[in-house]
Amino acid sequence: MFIDQAKLTLIAGKGGDGAISLHREKYVDRGGPDGGNGGRGGSIIMRADSGVTTLIAYRFGKTIKAPEGQKGGKNNAYGRSGQDVYLTVPVGTVVYQEPEHIILADFTKHGEEALIAKGGKGGRGNACFKSPQVRVPRFAENGTPGEKKSLILELKLLADVGIIGLPNAGKSTLLSIISSAKPEIGDYPFTTINPQLGVVMHHNQSFVAADMPGLIAGAAEGKGLGLRFLRHIERTRVLVHLVSMENAHNPYQDYLAIRQELDSYGLGLQDKIEIVVASKMDEDGAEEQLKAFKKKLKKTPVFPLSALTNLGLDELLNHIVRTLENAPSPLLVQPDVSRDVKIYDASTMLAKQPLFTIRKVKNGYYAIEGEEIIAKYRLYNLSDEDGIRRLLYYLNKAGVDAALAKTDIQDGDTVLLDDFEFEYFR
Ligand code: GDP
Ligand code: MG
Repeated sequence: MFIDQAKLTLIAGKGGDGAISLHREKYVDRGGPDGGNGGRGGSIIMRADSGVTTLIAYRFGKTIKAPEGQKGGKNNAYGRSGQDVYLTVPVGTVVYQEPEHIILADFTKHGEEALIAKGGKGGRGNACFKSPQVRVPRFAENGTPGEKKSLILELKLLADVGIIGLPNAGKSTLLSIISSAKPEIGDYPFTTINPQLGVVMHHNQSFVAADMPGLIAGAAEGKGLGLRFLRHIERTRVLVHLVSMENAHNPYQDYLAIRQELDSYGLGLQDKIEIVVASKMDEDGAEEQLKAFKKKLKKTPVFPLSALTNLGLDELLNHIVRTLENAPSPLLVQPDVSRDVKIYDASTMLAKQPLFTIRKVKNGYYAIEGEEIIAKYRLYNLSDEDGIRRLLYYLNKAGVDAALAKTDIQDGDTVLLDDFEFEYFR
């Protein structure tokens, strides 16, 4: 089975905590603060590699973590940074952040990289907080947590040419004779369940063709596996539309059925360059069918073809190569998504939310809630009084005191902030 989707979770490394330390040396009575900074946490970076062709490596809903940064040490020793983790993905992979379904990266070239989950910042050691007022700071920052992302990876084929048509039109057969691909060939509908890729060489020119079996009536509504396959055509530059000239068929109606699928799928499929091919021209009555079909299509050129006798094959390939030379580059992302969104930045989302809210949990208990204020709270090392004082100072500046005063809170009530509790006094 061709794997074109994978789910995974990335957790970047937490930054190392800053150290609290006082310089000690023989004969030196009172040394200054010398607690070093923590190292930054490892980030997780994805890199496109043309040598990778599937998402199999990410198939089983994996969680991938990057290492934490080390804690700062005494003597101003910096903690070592956590090593970044590189994940290779095939060219053509689109990375979505879930559940928002935002595009984080869209890899189109070998070697392209995107930072997907950023490691946490290292906390500053107490040496950083020395000032004329505070000669011997007894506090340090903790490292921030690394970003956590739930992702869906999606691989779309980067074929130049998509071969479309109803089941049994001869798509697999055509691909097998023009390329080295060996798709399944059968005489019953729905034989080809996976798109097949082949490299086609023609008079020193080459292109990638894909057999697109998904185009059956109702595919655009997600019937069967249709929708998944339709996605694979999004990036092709030219569609080769095979219409069988067998007697049992009505070629024009077959043609319209596929056109309608392209229309209802949207995303520009209906505007792609289409080369119409009359297939199975060796069949009895094919000439008459072709004549009637051409009449219906009016000015649209139709290329007659028999995969059995190779009739028309050279002309068709010449025409495809010529068309590709003038065809626009493939659509790289879905048009309703901004091209600029390379890396999703959580901080811009948070900025739109209020910094905190106060919720009365029950009588005598009030909670300060809000992702950003809790993230900030976790920065404070509360193992000593200096840290606590700094936190309270921050909360006051952020307006928490004023907001609490507006509630019916009483002296002695409990205020909750993440895993921290303190007593309220006006
Ligand atoms: P697909 O479903 O569009 O991929 O169609 P296939 O390539 O699997 O072909 C369906 C059937 O049509 C098979 O039995 C093929 O051998 C047959 N076929 C394909 N091309 C031709 C052709 O040019 N002439 C004739 N007579 N039969 C063909
Ligand atoms: Mg087929």
